[in-house]
Amino acid sequence: MRSTLNQKVLAILLASATFLSAAPSAEDQRISVYSPVAVYDLPVLERSGHQYVGLLELLEPLGRVSSQTDGRLWRLHYNNVSAEFAAGKTRARIAGRDFDFVAPFLIENSRGLVPLGSLNGFLPRFLGATVNFRESARRLLVGDVAIQISFQLAAGNPPRLAVNFSAPVNPTISTEPGKLRMVFKRDPVVSPGSQSISFDNRIITHASYFENNGDAELEVAANQSVMLMASFSSDRRSIMVSAASAATTPTTVGPLRPTQGQASSASGSANGHRILAIVDPAHGGDEPGGALGDKLAEKDVTLGFARLLRHELETRGFAVTLTREADTGSTLDQRAAAANVAHAGIYISLHAASQGGGARVYTALLPVEGPTNGVFHPWNTAQAPALPVSRIVAAAIVAEMQKKEFTVHASSASLRPLNNVLMPAVAVELAPGPDGIADLTSANYQQRAAAAIADALVSVRDRLASQP
Ligand SMILES: [Zn+2]
Repeated sequence: MRSTLNQKVLAILLASATFLSAAPSAEDQRISVYSPVAVYDLPVLERSGHQYVGLLELLEPLGRVSSQTDGRLWRLHYNNVSAEFAAGKTRARIAGRDFDFVAPFLIENSRGLVPLGSLNGFLPRFLGATVNFRESARRLLVGDVAIQISFQLAAGNPPRLAVNFSAPVNPTISTEPGKLRMVFKRDPVVSPGSQSISFDNRIITHASYFENNGDAELEVAANQSVMLMASFSSDRRSIMVSAASAATTPTTVGPLRPTQGQASSASGSANGHRILAIVDPAHGGDEPGGALGDKLAEKDVTLGFARLLRHELETRGFAVTLTREADTGSTLDQRAAAANVAHAGIYISLHAASQGGGARVYTALLPVEGPTNGVFHPWNTAQAPALPVSRIVAAAIVAEMQKKEFTVHASSASLRPLNNVLMPAVAVELAPGPDGIADLTSANYQQRAAAAIADALVSVRDRLASQP
């Protein structure tokens, strides 16, 4: 019985972290536009071997724009610039002068389409600003918006790499042994000079920069067995990448209970005894959870949030295991079993919602069942003995989140797998704050929530430590 559970846990932990970077299909191709007034992306259409974008759609977020179709002619007004285009022709007249496209202008459903290869040539006539279109990556920078990247390596044990930016950034960050990847969808970061930068360090070895399909990516590489963690500075202009001791990462097969006195830079452990927290990013794999917005799935938000929470807890002296490190699925039973087998001190399930404003903290609402007999806990009421402490933990999280100005409510729900977990267990559902849905992908917003949860666990650390 015990070994069956262990095998389940190993199966979960061995589900390797893989980067999801499938090449986009033709319909998914898009162009990202970065300007001082707006950041947006638009679909790219493939016609006769050339890539096109709708010109009205491209200019609309940047100024006052209108168009009229007149047979095969299409007229456009942008602020005080007028232009005339003819369907099937490469020559157009823009601001009183001729312009030759690299491929014919097209009209489809009264929409004027221009070839991407000509954007650098004609857009300055409309915008009166410098335009930097990076065609292979389909990233269009209008005006002086580029964000520069620089690096600063502090060679110590463990080494730390500061990645500095000339303006605040908000990438999505994923990690697997030996690699940490930042994907910039909304930030006009530009290449740090060369595609690959080597560091004179045995652990953190180099960084590489790529641009593709409207996104920029920065990958920090380390020795294969090393897990890299990232944390943001409060102004989001700097991301500190540090090497975590491999022994604390769940991708290492071994006893889940952390061994005493293991190599770790974590401080603040109480009496040398580190409490193990199981952090469970809800959903994953085939099960996306709620759709939080266009292209934003709950499973991705919960994973990013879980990584931040892990970091906050580790810096406060907790040992932390995530139930998943990547976009992989596991059942509710597997998640509960992972916590139970590990004899964790606390189990925290993370959800996210698009509605509600703030956060909700749940404890189990147990079904009415008969008394437990001896040491065997009926699966559906496994939580019963720990429930009083779970409620104390939930109250502490509410208090700490309120201190950090979150709107937050506590409630009970028959929310699996909380019912099946033997140790104190809570679920936290993060909902957007005053900035709306953008909060859910904001590292700053998530970081404040993660710090509040971690502070709350510190405040009840003695209650958790006394668990059997
Ligand atoms: Zn959920």
